[in-house]
Amino acid sequence: MKVELKEIGEFPVEVSIFEEEKEIGFDIEGVKFVEGINVHLSIQQTDTEYYLNGVCTANVELVCARCLEPANEKIAGELEMIAIRETGSAERFKDVEDVIPLDDKEILEFSEQIRQSFIGSMPLKPLCQPDCLGLCATCGKNRNTNPCNCSEEKTDSRWDSLKDLAD
Ligand SMILES: [Zn+2]
Ligand SMILES: [Zn+2]
Repeated sequence: MKVELKEIGEFPVEVSIFEEEKEIGFDIEGVKFVEGINVHLSIQQTDTEYYLNGVCTANVELVCARCLEPANEKIAGELEMIAIRETGSAERFKDVEDVIPLDDKEILEFSEQIRQSFIGSMPLKPLCQPDCLGLCATCGKNRNTNPCNCSEEKTDSRWDSLKDLAD
């Protein structure tokens, strides 16, 4: 994913970019992009730098944490970058994370920043549906599609005393 900063005539500017999943040159394990990536950026410039911030969003297919079937989620990550022009110096941005030096063409390539942002915003427990029943701990079947009786009958003895209290 890139933006040609030199081609932009006026600042500040809002830029929207869409890229198809087949054009996306990065992999995140367990994540399948289904409708490409949308990026929306606000860009400001000074004599020596460009300041970019915005969001990247994507519809992805993950793996359901309960039943291991596909789980469709929309993920969104934040982007904050400083692109340094050839005339600028990265020195004074030592403590800023995403500082990207530009060459004289001023084409900013920020796929890695998007990848990192998505990784940081990934749901910890994606679900195929909010009330996914998961896999049966006894017979291993998907309880959403194969209701079974085994789990109901088997109770964990550790909870018996609690059950007595409840009664
Ligand atoms: Zn599920
Ligand atoms: Zn079962």
